[in-house]
Amino acid sequence: MDVSAHIEAVYEDIRRRNPGEGEFHQAAHEVLHAIGPVLRAHPEYSRARIVERLCEPERQLIFRVAWVDDQGTVQVNRGFRVEFNSALGPYKGGLRFHPSVNLGIVKFLGFEQIFKNALTGMAIGGGKGGADFDPKGRSDGEIMRFCQAFMTELYRHLGEHTDVPAGDIGVGGREIGYLFGQYKRITNRYEAGVLTGKPVGWGGSHARTEATGYGAVYFAQEMLATRGHDFDGRRVVVSGSGNVAVYAVEKVHALGGRVVACSDSSGYLVDEDGIDLDLLKEVKEVRRARISAYAEAKPTARFSARGSVFDVPCEIALPCATQNELTRQDAVALVKNGVLAVAEGANMPCTPEAVEVFRGARTLFGPGKAANAGGVATSALEMQQNASRDSWTFERTEDRLATIMRQVHAQCRATAETYGDDADDYVLGANTAGFLRVAEAMMAQGVV
Ligand code: GLU
Repeated sequence: MDVSAHIEAVYEDIRRRNPGEGEFHQAAHEVLHAIGPVLRAHPEYSRARIVERLCEPERQLIFRVAWVDDQGTVQVNRGFRVEFNSALGPYKGGLRFHPSVNLGIVKFLGFEQIFKNALTGMAIGGGKGGADFDPKGRSDGEIMRFCQAFMTELYRHLGEHTDVPAGDIGVGGREIGYLFGQYKRITNRYEAGVLTGKPVGWGGSHARTEATGYGAVYFAQEMLATRGHDFDGRRVVVSGSGNVAVYAVEKVHALGGRVVACSDSSGYLVDEDGIDLDLLKEVKEVRRARISAYAEAKPTARFSARGSVFDVPCEIALPCATQNELTRQDAVALVKNGVLAVAEGANMPCTPEAVEVFRGARTLFGPGKAANAGGVATSALEMQQNASRDSWTFERTEDRLATIMRQVHAQCRATAETYGDDADDYVLGANTAGFLRVAEAMMAQGVV
């Protein structure tokens, strides 16, 4: 069978065997349609059925999470962990607590994670997990009890050499703390490296909280530099206002850019003065309030419940909220307004149609598995520090992060040139470079 027919057959098989998992199909489609040239160069991969094996998770766990809310009512949620691929190291990837979580979402995230983790050059496999639990409006006690109930099942599948979760949407330092406490209680082991994203002070790494947002900005900076541009004096739009967005804003401002808009699921905010980071952090991290509270506190800002944050004219766009948030229509508006570069801080925030628009306009486009790899890379640095019972300074850790992001960027371009004809094709470069590293390890490890 020729390579194109083989890829089509694998994709059809994925759709047939994973019905209703649209996001997983989408993530698989992106990878499969990038790796044609590498499969042509390596027929041994097809003989060993590397692609088929990669698309089938090594293990998929679905479990009930029963817990009691503040009213004494029993609540039932569904927990997931998809251990996708361990060719390069223990399964590694975050946990997402959000009502939209289902098996298809966890599989798309876990699949992305395989290639992203490979791109970092670190010894980490790919996995992802979460629950359809909605943390919004829940008390601290409810969050703790939910985390304890979740870990009471998940602990048996984890271990610093087996599977190492971290945070994602709805899971930050507080949740990681409760999850770790329960893991320690059940196992009677202080196994620091079993979770990353721990608070600094008891095993967490400096710069982990900032890493995904900072990393996305470093990646965008590298892309801009290839055309002689930088962030200085540039107008920037960052969607979202969670952990990734907040630290993307911080780094853009440090580099002389001005973030004029950000958003949350209730709407978006424009502040022509530049987003006031202290106020944003106070609203989102301390008060855990909606973004409109920012506009109430700051007269220069305007909140809009309707429309899209990407309608706000900018030169650099950093989608940092969630999957498929940036549509074809948004991409058209961005291009019309003269956007130079788009780097995905979130996982798969641009729809395939939006990516096509950027490609057509030759807009620099950094896919999430490269642009947001800084978070998980710093998780791997946290694992390193835990394994050596050491703790590095902020500067040393951030320095490593910056180096890794530069290497990821260079690797994307070099691979895109080798397997395609355009170094600017970061989609081809990221998917191919990530795939190659995993495929080589799988070939070496035999049929398992
Ligand atoms: N959830 C993050 C991501 O999408 C981080 C995963 C980790 O640190 O393990 O990459």
